[in-house]
Amino acid sequence: MSSNTKNKVHGLLWTVLNHKCPHCREGNIFKDKGSFHLKTFMQMNDNCPVCGQKTEIEEGFYYGTGYVSYALAVAFSTSTFVAWWVLIGMSVDDNRVFWWLGTNAFLMLILQPYLMRLSRTIWLSIFVKFDTEWRSDKNKMVAV
Ligand SMILES: [Zn+2]
Repeated sequence: MSSNTKNKVHGLLWTVLNHKCPHCREGNIFKDKGSFHLKTFMQMNDNCPVCGQKTEIEEGFYYGTGYVSYALAVAFSTSTFVAWWVLIGMSVDDNRVFWWLGTNAFLMLILQPYLMRLSRTIWLSIFVKFDTEWRSDKNKMVAV
């Protein structure tokens, strides 16, 4: 095997949570590493800086991200609901369920920039598959 084998291959979950290119799992999709730099957090690289994968496959590609955002919001709310239920409890006799609603809405708002980036990364990962041979493909392209 080549010397490339000693390079660690990241798992899909790590790739997605860190907003990495799904093709090589190394390049950053977004220009700014910080999710909470509110002026720049949605600026994307046109191409992956590591393997050259296009980040906008076609025009309007990211309109479909809405479905992912929705699924994430539902998953997130379900998680906080269950956590709340276990840790704090719910009852029809008091306002605890409304406290959960408020807390959940607040958390979602705070995490929105991160979730928006996550949605785009997931959406891109659905269409672009990881290619273990991306290095040799790239070398081929350079050779030609
Ligand atoms: Zn890449």
